[in-house]
Amino acid sequence: MPANFKKIVQEIPAHVSHLFDKGRVADYIPALACIPADKFGFSLLTATGDRFETGDCQERFSIQSISKVFTLSLAMGYAKEELWSRVGREPSGSKFNSLVQLEYEKGKPRNPFINAGSIVVCDVLVSHLKNPRQALLDYMRVLSGSFDIDFDEVVAKSEAETGFINKALANFLKGNGNLENDVEEVLDLYFHQCSIAISCHELASASLHLANHGNSNTLKESVLTPSQVKRVNSLMLTCGLYDAVGEFAFRVGLPAKSGVGGGIIGILPGEYSVAVWSPGLDPSGNSLAGGAALEYLTTITSKSVF
Ligand code: GLU
Repeated sequence: MPANFKKIVQEIPAHVSHLFDKGRVADYIPALACIPADKFGFSLLTATGDRFETGDCQERFSIQSISKVFTLSLAMGYAKEELWSRVGREPSGSKFNSLVQLEYEKGKPRNPFINAGSIVVCDVLVSHLKNPRQALLDYMRVLSGSFDIDFDEVVAKSEAETGFINKALANFLKGNGNLENDVEEVLDLYFHQCSIAISCHELASASLHLANHGNSNTLKESVLTPSQVKRVNSLMLTCGLYDAVGEFAFRVGLPAKSGVGGGIIGILPGEYSVAVWSPGLDPSGNSLAGGAALEYLTTITSKSVF
């Protein structure tokens, strides 16, 4: 029997609201510290185009590391196989901004979703595109169908002023020959990708191609090939939730990517894309109520990739 998404999605806030004040809003990026912890948005878009959403699903928030999925998808079109000689495909088992791991592994980041890996992906885009910032924005706008999506310059500036560890990672990559371009130029793209302001409604649209064999509902041509979709989804499943990826697979069972802005996108291949936002984070850096909402969804529908 098909899942009654309408009823399930309406029930979700009541199931997770007790967690809103149990998480911790990211405050290491000063511009994010003031976001109210009781915000909650949820949007599910089926491959057949039906939409089920609730709460603050139209309110924009900071995409943060969820952007790494989209820069990777964009870069896959340019770097092809050689990308994988510069970035690995294994879970990191370490903090998302670990310098120790990068040094130990001689400047080759474990995967494209830890900060160092995403900085290398940004380097690929800087090498291939005249205006990579604009190209990324255009990509997000077309995929989401929202042409006023933009960078939040306050967040980008806040990260540029305080992102000392990201600067260290980029310099370390450069020192090890794994960055072709100027460190500042690459970091400018990295800080801007993380600053994109986007809603759950828009994120569910932007991710739909990952649930729909590479086809979005906003474009005639495919966004990614089925093989590229397989790769992005497998990386989300194994590397998308910081150092809690096993726990998330155990509880939720979907390829997913989180960000410290409190957003998570999830994909049930062939069925739906889903985006949830709740700013309070668990100790791993994943949205506490967001993870619980996705766990409720996959449990009550008895559907996950497993
Ligand atoms: N802009 C954040 C950083 O580089 C991204 C963190 C995240 O969402 O994982 O620290």
